[in-house]
Amino acid sequence: MQYISTRGLAPAQSFSQILLGGLAPDGGLYLPAEYPQVSSAELDAWRSLSYADLAFEVLKKFATDIPDADLKALVHKTYTAEVYRNAREGEDATRITPVHTVEEKNGTRLVLQALSNGPTLAFKDMAMQLLGNLFEYALAKQHAELNIFGATSGDTGSAAEYAMRGKKGIRVFMLSPHNKMSAFQSAQMFSLQDPNIFNIAVDGVFDDCQDMVKAVSNDLAFKQQQKIGTVNSINWARVVAQVIYYFRGYLSVTSSNEEKVSFTVPSGNFGNICAGHIARMMGLPIDKLVAATNENDVLDEFFRTGVYRVRKSAETYHTTSPSMDISKASNFERFVFDLLDRDGERVRALFQKVETQGGFDLSGKPGSDGDEFRKIAQFGFASGKSTHADRLATIRDLQAKYGLMIDTHTADGVKVAREHLTPGVPMIVLETALPAKFNETIREALGRDAARPAGFENIEDLPQRLVVMTTDIDKMKAYIAAHTGL
Ligand SMILES: *Cc1c(COP(=O)(O)O)cnc(C)c1O
Repeated sequence: MQYISTRGLAPAQSFSQILLGGLAPDGGLYLPAEYPQVSSAELDAWRSLSYADLAFEVLKKFATDIPDADLKALVHKTYTAEVYRNAREGEDATRITPVHTVEEKNGTRLVLQALSNGPTLAFKDMAMQLLGNLFEYALAKQHAELNIFGATSGDTGSAAEYAMRGKKGIRVFMLSPHNKMSAFQSAQMFSLQDPNIFNIAVDGVFDDCQDMVKAVSNDLAFKQQQKIGTVNSINWARVVAQVIYYFRGYLSVTSSNEEKVSFTVPSGNFGNICAGHIARMMGLPIDKLVAATNENDVLDEFFRTGVYRVRKSAETYHTTSPSMDISKASNFERFVFDLLDRDGERVRALFQKVETQGGFDLSGKPGSDGDEFRKIAQFGFASGKSTHADRLATIRDLQAKYGLMIDTHTADGVKVAREHLTPGVPMIVLETALPAKFNETIREALGRDAARPAGFENIEDLPQRLVVMTTDIDKMKAYIAAHTGL
């Protein structure tokens, strides 16, 4: 299996060659040269597999240059009931992503698939835990090491740290805005005592942290010398690891491959739902893929109008589903590539236009950049938007009717899913976080605290390990160099 760039100008690479990297050299994103297909007989055979064995079957179609025995060992180390232990009462942790039906009405069915039972209580663990093991494996083979340098305002940084802690050949330097994260989020990251994890709280806001990551990454000599890498959401291995749970979700709620299901996905950078698109392109019988956004509705606007318009900072809102607060959707280019019949030259032109003019228009109207909006439905995509008031109402409604507590991101998903129900087609909403992570809004909605999974009760009281630094780039570089010894 070879991987090509969405901008058409980078040489094809193997899975292992793109594993540790980010963007292709032409600025595009990697995708398989063609999508592997899954037959109905295969799907039937997969129905009875454990999550780890299903992960092996899906991944081996993509990671063709990793020997089967090695890949099998990696997925069995990753997808265990021990790692995904934070299942709710009544859920079976050995299922890894347990599903349960929330509501059945007039032939429609609303199902929740829990992706948030991993160490940091959010769905990013689903892919990041595999990435940690894949990175350690690949680095050991190459006798190489990697220093991950990133910035976080919450979910991504903690998922990366919990995936990379204790891994040989890997260090993590993670910047976060000092005193700007919730007490729970800070405690989760800062209580890690592993010597390969470096938490750096920066006197500034999240944008200052991101600017520092950019400044360091733009110093190519330093980057090479210090073996600096990233784990952001465009990493191909993260996307492909997310394909697995679409298969699991489908197989969990159907008994024959004649049946279809739809998915609603709380979306920000389009990484999660992009994996759903890939599963559908592989032949998984998905009817609709519904992107649910919060007030930051870049994606909803595109799927309703064909116009993609990235937002300026002043138009990017801080909401109570903060992990979906984005100004542009970094994985969206992968879908646009398929929408444009994989025409790399046109994708290049459109995303150059994003840089210079802030967006593009595929509505087909006079003066637009194309008319591919008419093909959206063929790809199954639909969308909807949710607001703070919707989140509160949805959290209250599920608690009152079913005694079920959901987090704010999942609430955005449920709100939008209910607008896209079809009789006879189960609608699976991906649960992307547990409510304990966003307790402030749970209190606002319900007047009480979210239950915390075992082991998280007193997390704020654990000793914390961090350094506080200013936005001085030279001091930051000196700190990194001193700790890598390179
Ligand atoms: C990251 C995240 C999302 C958004 O996922 P994308 O892949 O960026 O679309 C939604 N919910 C939660 C809880 C997240 O952490």
